[in-house]
Amino acid sequence: MQWLLADLHIHSTFSDGTIRIEEIIKIYGEAGFDVIAITDHLFDTQSPISLRLREEGKSVRDVEAYFRKIEEVSLWAKESYDLLVIPGLEICNLPEDYHILGIDLKEPLNPNQDATGVINEIHRQGGLAIASHPQLKLSYFLKGDNESIQRHPLHLWKHREKYVDKIDAWEIANRDDLFGIVSLEGLTYVANSDFHDREHLSSWKSLIFAEKDKEAVKKAISERKLSLFFFSTNEAKKELPTLQIPKENDESSGGSVQTGREKILIVDDEEDLVDLLAYNLKGKGYQALKAYNGFEAWEKIQSETPEVMILDLMMPELDGWELCQIIRRHDNEAIRGISILMLSARAMPEDRVHGLQIGADDYLTKPFSINELILRIEKLIEKRKAVGNLKGEMELLRSTSREKELSLRKVVHDLKNPLISMGASAKRMLRRNQTEEDLNILGIIYDNSLRLTQWIDEALLPVGLSSQRIKEEMKPVSIQWVVERAVRSMKDAAAEKRIEMHFSASSLTPSIPCHEDWILRAIENLLGNALKYSWEGGKVEVKVTSYLERKEQGVVEISIKDTGIGILEEEIGRIFEPFFRGKNARTEPGIGLGLSFVKEVVEWHGGKVLVLSEHQKGSTFSILLPVKNPNEQAVKGV
Ligand code: ADP
Repeated sequence: MQWLLADLHIHSTFSDGTIRIEEIIKIYGEAGFDVIAITDHLFDTQSPISLRLREEGKSVRDVEAYFRKIEEVSLWAKESYDLLVIPGLEICNLPEDYHILGIDLKEPLNPNQDATGVINEIHRQGGLAIASHPQLKLSYFLKGDNESIQRHPLHLWKHREKYVDKIDAWEIANRDDLFGIVSLEGLTYVANSDFHDREHLSSWKSLIFAEKDKEAVKKAISERKLSLFFFSTNEAKKELPTLQIPKENDESSGGSVQTGREKILIVDDEEDLVDLLAYNLKGKGYQALKAYNGFEAWEKIQSETPEVMILDLMMPELDGWELCQIIRRHDNEAIRGISILMLSARAMPEDRVHGLQIGADDYLTKPFSINELILRIEKLIEKRKAVGNLKGEMELLRSTSREKELSLRKVVHDLKNPLISMGASAKRMLRRNQTEEDLNILGIIYDNSLRLTQWIDEALLPVGLSSQRIKEEMKPVSIQWVVERAVRSMKDAAAEKRIEMHFSASSLTPSIPCHEDWILRAIENLLGNALKYSWEGGKVEVKVTSYLERKEQGVVEISIKDTGIGILEEEIGRIFEPFFRGKNARTEPGIGLGLSFVKEVVEWHGGKVLVLSEHQKGSTFSILLPVKNPNEQAVKGV
């Protein structure tokens, strides 16, 4: 008996190793090893990822040729280096989530079965079943290798009480990693390098106390006649890596998930299917959330707001149909907008149509191919992104054009006052004695200022403004303050005609939600008319009165009373029509749009415009605006 330097976990170019078997023998032989096992990967054929790995040559294709090759080199290894080479395989099943080393195998075995099946086959061939890297490797975290963390098989370790009598040894060390818990739990252990590349020679190995033959080595491992040994080739000292712990942990898989990718909620009462889908989606870099019934799904939707949901229709209690409808009716836009892929065993076209009608984005019938499901999920995500980008662009365009329009309107509006005062000054000078030429020039100035004022009025008409937009721009405003502003802006025009303007307000005037600019313009229009249709030396009275019947309801009245020319009785019913101008108005400039604008604006605010008029005596126009919550927004009047 002797201490044998051994490594029972080695990959060659038959799977994903970088070194050919002959070269491996040379490396280990020259390094003075006594026993090695070649254990290339044999992947299952049950999942798209395992199929891809097989296609990429990461799984032994021809197991018999592989065994023949090992047998061929064994003799040479024995003669040249006194190295015992044992044939083996690392059987990897991704959906079942295990990697098992079969040491001393004679025949191919079936990787498409559960762990117990594989262990039994290994034992039937007289081999040793070893659990590869049972726990998550710290080295993955150190390298920030999230993909390996996600793919890391944990089934055997999670259910070790079930396998404790079946597995012959657990890797207590794998390359640089040590899994101390294997010894703490008193399990049979072995240390291997998981060799894929020359640099992996420096790693944990086993020293086995046995004769140098297969049976003796296997027996010694089972009897724990084994010691750990860190084999170093004295190469340059490695840089100490810094620990990179992934941001989020998913306890359902024991692994970690990538953040920043879309959250996909899988809802199905078939737990195995949920796990399989989650595994595959995580492999694609998505965050997979799991729920096994409708209620659980609803909780996850509220707490996690996934982007996409794979929703089974047939579930006890809250089923997929109901859940889909709840989601689509939800107040929260993010929840309402979850992309839903329905899964159902019902293949009838009417079910599919119904599913799409109640708000599913896509529908897949069971049984389905995982590849197709992933493709469809990817398509849904692409669609979401495209729609999201479009929405963003539209919002940007809308807000830029709104800003532009508002600033243009402001400029145009601000032009009005200087123009009015220019016109008023020209008129004042016209009255004084001037030369013929001066009179002509002043007349042109006066006419043009009037024309420009009218154009401004037309340009400012809110044509094309959607009521939605008006609503967005409404805010609580002190009505008294708005009326005072309007009165101030008309002061010059009133003075020009020597019209006495009087303003008063009731003691408590509420603030009410309104579009300040449009209300201001409506009041200015009424005031403008009152001045325009009054004789010189007349009187205009402006009043703000609150009628607050109950605490939470009432009306504010803004009345403008003039002592002007009045309106003909037969015309009163038509003055709010666009472009209507009364017979009395012909001598005054105007285009007949002022009152229709006032009516439109006031009605947007849920209010009314009333008029009382007596021909040749005067008119009173009243704007009535509803007050919803005067208590909260009351301001002190003068
Ligand atoms: P415009 O003043 O440009 O003619 P409006 O729409 O403001 O257009 O008014 C429509 C019509 O209503 C006027 O042409 C005029 O006949 C009548 N009107 C409006 N306000 C008064 C007022 N305060 N006094 C007398 N008539 C008025």
